[in-house]
Amino acid sequence: MKDTFEREITYLRISLTDLCNLRCAYCMPPEGVKKKPREQILSLEEIAGIAREAVGLGIKKIRLTGGEPLLRPGVLPLCRELRRIPGLRELTLTTNGLLLPGMAGELRDAGVDRVNISLDTLDPEKYRRITRGGCLEEALAGLQAARAADLTPLKLNCVLIGGFNDDEIPALAALTEREPVEVRFIELMPIGDTAGFGPEAYLPCQTVLERLPRLEPVEGAGVAERFRLPGAAGTVGLIRPLSRCFCAQCDRIRLTADGRLKPCLHSREEISVRGLHGPALRRRLEQAILRKPARHGELSASVRSSSARDMNRIGG
Ligand code: SAM
Ligand code: SF4
Repeated sequence: MKDTFEREITYLRISLTDLCNLRCAYCMPPEGVKKKPREQILSLEEIAGIAREAVGLGIKKIRLTGGEPLLRPGVLPLCRELRRIPGLRELTLTTNGLLLPGMAGELRDAGVDRVNISLDTLDPEKYRRITRGGCLEEALAGLQAARAADLTPLKLNCVLIGGFNDDEIPALAALTEREPVEVRFIELMPIGDTAGFGPEAYLPCQTVLERLPRLEPVEGAGVAERFRLPGAAGTVGLIRPLSRCFCAQCDRIRLTADGRLKPCLHSREEISVRGLHGPALRRRLEQAILRKPARHGELSASVRSSSARDMNRIGG
């Protein structure tokens, strides 16, 4: 289905939980989030029902996210259920990777096509710092498990943070040299628990192009602009919500774990689908698509997102 700005909306991101086994400094408060009572969270059956209606409206791709989606009990049967929806072309998942060593094969068998894994640094001490206690080795084991289970091509999400990991741009981009992965540098967004970051942290992705002058553009449209190092097997993606708004290419709506549709990541607007079925549910989904704004408001180190939720409660 098209929105009012002629954008075809084909992508639904579903947050399965607000909870996480990490506490990334740009995403979660240090104390984590309180577990919601079960009745406030969509059941797996409700999620599958909403997904089915959404596919009926033209959604072709679903991404499961969170919080950490792999923490949600029943994620495997849910994937199997989603995979059975006629018309769904792609089922993917965004994860910090920590639970992949025990789950990657089963996720593949349950119908997940591929995963995005968050990896902001290759330095164990910096990883511990940015995730507030995480272990880089475990995340790398997750990457390895995803490769072994063929959850590929892998995309590695790297939030670019001035003064933290900009010195690692060449090392992170070098991961694309021999393997067909996409390393995606994402501009830090002023949303959620980012009060601790000063203006220097909001580094534009242009820095990546300056540090890697050999990058060559790769054809193709989407929210990520893609580049390649000469002769590299993989690509480098740039996602620049602050310095180069990509709203004209926006093709998605989001569903939160507590059953709200978000027409735009950076807007306060939320549309509840709790308890709805059939035509009533369909109408709300249509409403969410039609309520998508032309673009989000300005975002910068000093102008915060209008979203009423942290990223862990939306799903990125
Ligand atoms: N826990 C999973 C993970 O980390 O991949 C999935 C959920 S996480 C909220 C989804 C993505 O949002 C991650 O790649 C994370 O880096 C990104 N993210 C979270 N807060 C952000 C922020 N303030 N600015 C930019 N990206 C952010
Ligand atoms: Fe958890 Fe992902 Fe947020 Fe990090 S970015 S705290 S791994 S939800």
